[in-house]
Amino acid sequence: MAFSESIIIQAWKRSGGRCECMRVNHAHGKVRCERPVKWPNRGIETIGAWEVRSASGNNLDTLEDCQITCWACHIATF
Ligand SMILES: [Zn+2]
Ligand SMILES: [Zn+2]
Repeated sequence: MAFSESIIIQAWKRSGGRCECMRVNHAHGKVRCERPVKWPNRGIETIGAWEVRSASGNNLDTLEDCQITCWACHIATF
């Protein structure tokens, strides 16, 4: 993942501090995950942990492609 910090900050504001994952094969199913995550806990495996993910899989450095993802969804995604 090579998103720039400014893109990540914008994505974070859009997310409202909640996971944006919509993968249908995850436990949350066809709706947005919305698990709360905490800004300081990026990449740290603890409560409120999260990472960014490329929504398209192409690692585009765009706001549309930058998805805030909780840890459970992060580790469930390959
Ligand atoms: Zn999630
Ligand atoms: Zn998910």
